[in-house]
Amino acid sequence: MRFQVHTRQREAFVDITAQVAEAVSASGVTDGLAVVSCPHTTAGVTVNEAADPAVAADIIAALGRLVPRSGPWRHAEGNADAHVKASLMGCSVTVPVEGGALALGTWQGVFLCEFDGPRQRSLTVTLTPR
Ligand code: ZN
Repeated sequence: MRFQVHTRQREAFVDITAQVAEAVSASGVTDGLAVVSCPHTTAGVTVNEAADPAVAADIIAALGRLVPRSGPWRHAEGNADAHVKASLMGCSVTVPVEGGALALGTWQGVFLCEFDGPRQRSLTVTLTPR
C-alpha cells in the first residue's frame, strides 16, 4: 500500500503513524511485520517520540549541527546536506504488528523525515504475515 504526504517546510518530521496503522488495518494482517519504506534520496523514515514535538525539533536541530547545509559539498544541487541526513535516518523502518495493531511503545510514532521540502513524498507500507 502506498500513500502520499505533502511536506510544508524544508525540514520537518511528519507523524505518519495513523497512515501506517490504516495500511495495517486495510491489509487484514493481524500478526507479522510492517515495513515502511521511503523511496526518496532527501527524505527518510524513523521511529521516535511522538508525544512531545520538541523531540523531533531537537533531532532536526542536532542533524543541522552535525551536517551543515553550507558544506563544503561536491554535489552541486544545493541539497547535499539533505542527502546525508536522509541516509543518517534511513529509508525504511520495520514495525511489528500484534493483534492487528502496530506494536509501538507508548511514546513512539513513525515519522517521515523531510530534509528538502516542501515536496510531495510517497511512502510504501509492505505487510508480511507471520
Ligand atoms: Zn541532490
